[in-house]
Amino acid sequence: MSQGRTTEGVRDQRAELAEANHVLVDQGILDGFGHVSVRSAEDPDTFLLARNLAPGLVQPEDVQVFTLQGETDDPRKPYLERYIHSEIYRARPDVRAVVHSHSPAVIPFGVSTVPLRPILHMAGFLAPRVPVFEARDTLGSGSDLLVGTAASGAALAEVLGDAAVVLMRGHGFTSVATSIPEVVYRAVYTGVNARVQAEALRLGECTYLSDEEAAATVATNTPQIGRAWQYWRDRTA
Ligand SMILES: [Zn+2]
Repeated sequence: MSQGRTTEGVRDQRAELAEANHVLVDQGILDGFGHVSVRSAEDPDTFLLARNLAPGLVQPEDVQVFTLQGETDDPRKPYLERYIHSEIYRARPDVRAVVHSHSPAVIPFGVSTVPLRPILHMAGFLAPRVPVFEARDTLGSGSDLLVGTAASGAALAEVLGDAAVVLMRGHGFTSVATSIPEVVYRAVYTGVNARVQAEALRLGECTYLSDEEAAATVATNTPQIGRAWQYWRDRTA
């Protein structure tokens, strides 16, 4: 546990995490709820996540350090759904940042038979498929749908598999990536893709990116993410 340490790397991560919270609110991905975390640069068996607070209010000093069991020695109240983050970091060593959102634009694709698919070139990371987590499979038919236990977090991580995004039926979505700017980009464009796809479906049958096109767009766009991140961050500074 590294709660009390203040190395420069962790200080920078706390500041970047606070910025990510503000950007995701500004971009309409988080509101009073939802959260974003980052794996610690100092100890990969821990991750950083704000205390139980609306994302728009998060400051660097609100960031707590958690083990991959979802535990912290910080006495301040943590988020109920911290197990989304802890279990994905346990299951996916490649993942270094996680966003959990209740974005209403994305909900329709988790509750209907229409899969969320990459329909625009900024969202190729959605290929080859976006799985849907059904809370009833783990929590039974009378749950509050929240991922409030390690067991349900592990079930979510299993459904996510090696994908970039998992939808959560009647609840929201979770996106993963290798950095804070990338996971913010993926969360933002998951919402954009959902809105564009829903609009296109009203017109009729749609043409989606092929898996090959999706891979090519990811290769082109990934090195460009810093440009959007800089702009989004400056808007909220
Ligand atoms: Zn949630």
